[in-house]
Amino acid sequence: MANYDWIVIGAGITGSALGYELAKKGFRTLLLEKDARPDNATYYSYGGLAYWSGTTELTRQICQEGIEIHRNLSEELGADTEFRDIDLVLTIDAQDEPTTVATNYSQFAIAPQVLDVAGACELEPLLNPNAISGVLRFPHGHIHPHKTNLAYQQAFCRLGGELKIEPVVNLLRQGDRIEGVVTDRNQYYAANTVVCAGGLSRMLLKEAGISIRLYFTHAQLIKTPPVDIRLRTLVMPATQKRMLLEAQATAPEIESLWEQPSQDFIAGVLDPGAVQFLDGSFYIGQISEIYTNPQVKIDSAISEAQIRTGMTIILPSLQNLPGTWHRCLVAFAKNSLPLVGEINHLTGAYLFSGFTSTLVFAPPLARHFASWAAQEKDNIIPQLSANN
Ligand SMILES: Cc1cc2nc3c(=O)[nH]c(=O)nc-3n(C[C@H](O)[C@H](O)[C@H](O)COP(=O)(O)OP(=O)(O)OC[C@H]3O[C@@H](n4cnc5c(N)ncnc54)[C@H](O)[C@@H]3O)c2cc1C
Repeated sequence: MANYDWIVIGAGITGSALGYELAKKGFRTLLLEKDARPDNATYYSYGGLAYWSGTTELTRQICQEGIEIHRNLSEELGADTEFRDIDLVLTIDAQDEPTTVATNYSQFAIAPQVLDVAGACELEPLLNPNAISGVLRFPHGHIHPHKTNLAYQQAFCRLGGELKIEPVVNLLRQGDRIEGVVTDRNQYYAANTVVCAGGLSRMLLKEAGISIRLYFTHAQLIKTPPVDIRLRTLVMPATQKRMLLEAQATAPEIESLWEQPSQDFIAGVLDPGAVQFLDGSFYIGQISEIYTNPQVKIDSAISEAQIRTGMTIILPSLQNLPGTWHRCLVAFAKNSLPLVGEINHLTGAYLFSGFTSTLVFAPPLARHFASWAAQEKDNIIPQLSANN
């Protein structure tokens, strides 16, 4: 009955990278995406590659493989991902002590350089010296996430993969076996179905009676047109409130609230940050909020004003740039461990989602996943599957 070896649901960076790697292994693969015009987390991503962020032998290996893949990805995919090396500047609030904040980063594979205010402003002249006590500097990579995603999709299609714009409305389930998917106009059968639907993965699987520990934030940001100001680095706060928000939202006592439709159980947070792309446009962000309803209405005027106010403190010259407000869902998993591999107790159903530092993790893990799917020896995917 299976028409395809693999159906991949969702064509953000996780689904596009995985579709490409599966097609490269010779699998007959169908990639299904609901939106013709991208409006997803990948599209609104800053594009940073945190290859310094491995904390265990496993994550350090994935980070190392990730940055090596990215350095050669334009050539491999035959389209420019705009890869470059960039300094990541993590700002430290004026009242905090830089060396104390730096200790929070001691578990990472690469240690940050601690810079005082003068050193920070020499590296990034747009920083407000009065708002910081210093910065942490990491070697970081940068890509254009949307162009990288398109490059993966085009390479996938050249390998014979099929990309269709059709929303998946449910999985085809026979007892404990998933046999394919139902879209708004067709049914497709496959030996294997993998969910890469980002923040909507949880809802989609719930529709099929499958409960997973994957969560999502509502991220909000401002996108500017190309402008003349030049930001040299990628700027984010050293103490990211988003990480705390995610930890709170996955605490055991909160878990059951995720099953209820319109919960707003934790106040939103602002992590002032900015990146400039090679065409001169900026993404300025970011607010993260937790609502269990993916379609919840957010007041864009209030959100935009909050982002601009936060940005004025750190990077004053960006305050009045022209720009449009956007929102998207960002999937995350508990303890920053992605959900990769088989969905427990089911046959033919898999997850590939919930990454932290998705842009550096997804390409190597997609490669490992495809090797594992081809029953080649792989030591990474079985380790991650234990988390599902
Ligand atoms: C402002 C911001 C800055 C960020 N900066 C960074 C960064 O610097 N570095 C980094 O690594 N990460 C960053 N991230 C996070 C990163 O962008 C995301 O983790 C990543 O893009 C998620 O990819 P994804 O494929 O899981 O999800 P998405 O990109 O959201 O893709 C999921 C896709 O599934 C589709 N879909 C959903 N449901 C269905 C369905 N039923 N049928 C068919 N298709 C469906 C959606 O339309 C979507 O296209 C940032 C995120 C934001 C918002």
